[in-house]
Amino acid sequence: MLLLIPGPVQTRPETRAVMAQDIAPWDHDFRPTYAAIRERVRAIAGGIEGVHATLPLQGCGHFIMEAAIRSFVPAGGKLLIAHNGSYADRAVRLAREAGREVVTIPGPDTRPVTAAEVAAALAADPGITHAAIVHHETGSGIVNDPAVIGPVVRAAGRRLILDSVSAFGALPVDLAAHPEVDVVIFTSGKCLEGLPGIGFAVARIDSVEAAAGNAGSWSFDLADVYQHALRAGWGSFRFTPPVQALAAFKVALDLFDAEGGQPARLARYQENMRVLYDGVQALGLTPYLEPRHQGPVIVTVHQPADPAFELQGFVDALKARGVLISNFYNTKVPSFRIGCVGAITPDDMRGAVAAIGGALDDIGVRQREAA
Ligand SMILES: *Cc1c(COP(=O)(O)O)cnc(C)c1O
Repeated sequence: MLLLIPGPVQTRPETRAVMAQDIAPWDHDFRPTYAAIRERVRAIAGGIEGVHATLPLQGCGHFIMEAAIRSFVPAGGKLLIAHNGSYADRAVRLAREAGREVVTIPGPDTRPVTAAEVAAALAADPGITHAAIVHHETGSGIVNDPAVIGPVVRAAGRRLILDSVSAFGALPVDLAAHPEVDVVIFTSGKCLEGLPGIGFAVARIDSVEAAAGNAGSWSFDLADVYQHALRAGWGSFRFTPPVQALAAFKVALDLFDAEGGQPARLARYQENMRVLYDGVQALGLTPYLEPRHQGPVIVTVHQPADPAFELQGFVDALKARGVLISNFYNTKVPSFRIGCVGAITPDDMRGAVAAIGGALDDIGVRQREAA
């Protein structure tokens, strides 16, 4: 089966194989593995030793996103969120339920937020202490570029929280060049091609030191994760970690390095995306985004106008042909989405395009353009 979803992604057999063992997380044979993972992901983030620290948390992306918001936006702080997609929706909800005041920049999910929009929102409300952007918006496929937004936040003297969950490892992050970023978050199971189970924050140490007492939650307190590392060492996890997923993640990082790191991964995903985008167009389907706004992580496609199209039926027909895609969508209009990320190649994508054409025939969809 070819898994074409934006996480958990298809992984390599070498990565999965490592999970078939029992491991004691505190064992001295394992602690260096974990400590090294922290340094390696800090390097991928462009972080600086002594300035940035990797603060992992058990669980999914929402957990690390909640932890980042709770830890870095103090009670009484105000968070500006570029609200241009369904993962930004989640950030808004997480922040509000944590009792933080939220201001949004409403925007369509078909283009990135602009520097001018962020500058205007920050100028209009001096009470805003932090801004948050979703690097790659997994609801539609657009990219909000921290290299464009970061300088505006810096110039306004505010702090930036970067949700790079579906981008990190593929799209560049350079913390050394962006002192306004308090924290970038990502997970083990997306573009770094590990198994799901671990959220990562790479944060400024000065910000995390100032964050003590902010979280209002022991479990979600990244300042406490940092203090634990100082006390117990960088190879020690606070509470029981998904240790097999950590062991597999080490292999995933080895494969990431062997491929040529972030630039090579981006190049492969971009080619996957191009094959898919051009391929669905050639089938008569309508991509959701204009080519200039199409990121390399997922391609969203309008559902065909033909009344024979029904999403679960299409997903089942495609699965029968060996390709599994999401059976839900996150756009306001009906769509379906196909992941371009994971241990998959442009040849796999050519196969997927053929399978999509076959599945549409199987369910009798002739009129393929958008309704
Ligand atoms: C996947 C994702 C998350 C977190 O999702 P989980 O299902 O909780 O792992 C957060 N932000 C973005 C942009 C994502 O793509």
